[in-house]
Amino acid sequence: MGTVVRVEEQTVVMVRYGELFLKSEPVKRHFIGLLIRNIKKSLETAGLSFRYETPRGRILIYGDEPRKIASEVARVFGVVDVSVATVTGNSPEELGRAAGALGKKHLKAGMRFAVRAKRQKGSGGPDSQELGRVIGGVLYDDQPEAVVDLTHPEYEVFVEARENGGFVYDHRIPAPGGLPFGSQGNALGLISAGIDSPVASWLMMKRGCGMVHLNMDAGKWAGCATAEGAIENHRRLSLWVKGFPLRMLVVDSSPLYDAMSRGFPQRYICVICKRFMLRVAANLMPGEHAEVIVTGENLGQVASQTLSNLAVISSAVHVPVIRPLVTYDKADIVTIARRIGTFNQKPGDLCCKAVPAMPSTGANLADVITAEEKIDIDLLIAQAVERIRVVTALNGEITVHEKPDYEPAPAI
Ligand code: ATP
Ligand code: MG
Repeated sequence: MGTVVRVEEQTVVMVRYGELFLKSEPVKRHFIGLLIRNIKKSLETAGLSFRYETPRGRILIYGDEPRKIASEVARVFGVVDVSVATVTGNSPEELGRAAGALGKKHLKAGMRFAVRAKRQKGSGGPDSQELGRVIGGVLYDDQPEAVVDLTHPEYEVFVEARENGGFVYDHRIPAPGGLPFGSQGNALGLISAGIDSPVASWLMMKRGCGMVHLNMDAGKWAGCATAEGAIENHRRLSLWVKGFPLRMLVVDSSPLYDAMSRGFPQRYICVICKRFMLRVAANLMPGEHAEVIVTGENLGQVASQTLSNLAVISSAVHVPVIRPLVTYDKADIVTIARRIGTFNQKPGDLCCKAVPAMPSTGANLADVITAEEKIDIDLLIAQAVERIRVVTALNGEITVHEKPDYEPAPAI
């Protein structure tokens, strides 16, 4: 027989982390350790005091400001959702009292509602179904004009009877899911002032990758808002990994466009520009402990992004190039950009002045290589990686380190 435990009522932030369940025990322990480290960093950065427990499958966080804690934790990668819950005893009466208090505030006449009850083994009392019925009865008594609808409820109350007490809540704040930041090694992400590349970088961070950003500053060849826009994207992404400094390397790429402006087959400029970016990135990867390059490239979005051009671009390097957005529609990318806060309504002038009137949509690799030889691209790459600025973003604060401060990243 289970036991009925009486617990003093208080509030807790309940954190769920779905996918980590799939891992073996030691991997799971490691990942949960990283997740807790990241949660602690974000709460410390926000200046919130807290303590936590890790019962099976959950992280429970206690503190004086549960709502603030919940909204911080809802931005931590690896977290699926977060609830501010009332802690009660596990008897139907205590759970019902807490559920009734929530219902009184939110359940209105005519509203469709559902009770989602779960009883953990060993917690005693009625089974999940019966518990749900009892709690539903409590809500219904207070608001007899509400309607039970388990399929399309407008309002849900969640009740959990556990061995050592119970939890009651009526709201799940969605979090990004994915894996804990830092659990998957480093990637070097080509980032621009545009919409796509920050989304690509965010998706990689969400899957646990440490990102180092690389931006090509085309100087007079770029629209006047370009350099600032890239830094702004970098800054906004740092707000997703609070407590971790995010690095961005900035390389002067204007000599490449100067070289391509004279007696050069103009139609290859875009493809060669992208090959140049990948080669600079490949050069900088070892110093940043990065294992892959990430870009925001997409299939068919612009002239340089045909399948055959992407193949010619990738063949510039012998390292993997990951393109998380390759299959996404622009509208879906914009939706994510808005949700993660990188979308810029008025980005200013981002027009690249080196783009030719008719960029090639099916560049031939041999012709591209011949064109590259004309401008001594190896020398241009060597010069580019000599001149690097490092821009660090930490919790949305930017620090620019001018050369000669550049040093490869410390080991993780
Ligand atoms: P975005 O919105 O990400 O700029 P886009 O649709 O405008 O993408 P392109 O300008 O062709 O496409 O760029 C393709 C990818 O090349 C970008 O997603 C980014 O990864 C990389 N890239 C473009 N410009 C730069 C830059 N100035 N510095 C670094 N990477 C860049
Ligand atoms: Mg762009």
